[in-house]
Amino acid sequence: MVVIPHPDDAEISCGGTVAKWTAEGRRVIYVLCTSGDKGSDDPEMTPERLATIREREQQEAARILGVEQVVFLRHPDGGLKDTPDFRGELVRLIREHRPGVVMTADPHRKYLWHRDHRITSTVTLDAIFPYARDRLYYPELMAEGLLPHKVKEVYLWGSEEPNVFVDIGATFDLKMTALSCHVSQVGPYLGKGFEGYIRERATKAGESQGLSLAEAFHRIEITY
Ligand SMILES: [Zn+2]
Repeated sequence: MVVIPHPDDAEISCGGTVAKWTAEGRRVIYVLCTSGDKGSDDPEMTPERLATIREREQQEAARILGVEQVVFLRHPDGGLKDTPDFRGELVRLIREHRPGVVMTADPHRKYLWHRDHRITSTVTLDAIFPYARDRLYYPELMAEGLLPHKVKEVYLWGSEEPNVFVDIGATFDLKMTALSCHVSQVGPYLGKGFEGYIRERATKAGESQGLSLAEAFHRIEITY
């Protein structure tokens, strides 16, 4: 399960890893916390129209990477809050889909970090432990038959302390194709050094491990 603040965050941060895992037969589900409805300079654009466009782009990108399902929570872009309701939505999804691995942003990145990234990841980690795990939290979920679930691993992207490097040499092209679906965000940069920028990031991520192209994560193994 990939818990994502905005459309295109997953493709930029873990698209190559997602493509690799789905090719290996692993099921991947996206959870979009916002639909990126504020990121436009166009004076004619409205949040509603932008959300519709971005959800369509995200669906297409996810399809290319082999993602099985995309869930949209539709919180306002820039407006995520650490609330029991938001946490409960994530607990519900974790108990429903029962993922072994959850991926999200690293909440502990210092200095400039989009508030939605920080809040998405903080709330996701809280949802995993202890709320999805322990039966007495969110009793209404138990009443619906959604039993506690233990996530085994967490992969955090954007980390300043990466400890896992996934080789994306074979899936880099798919990552780029998926990323290119986000026309309303990356459209102006396509063909203008955008691929070079993404390739450079992947090259840098793999350097210390002797990998030509990689995505870097801080991996937590949950052994409770
Ligand atoms: Zn974002």
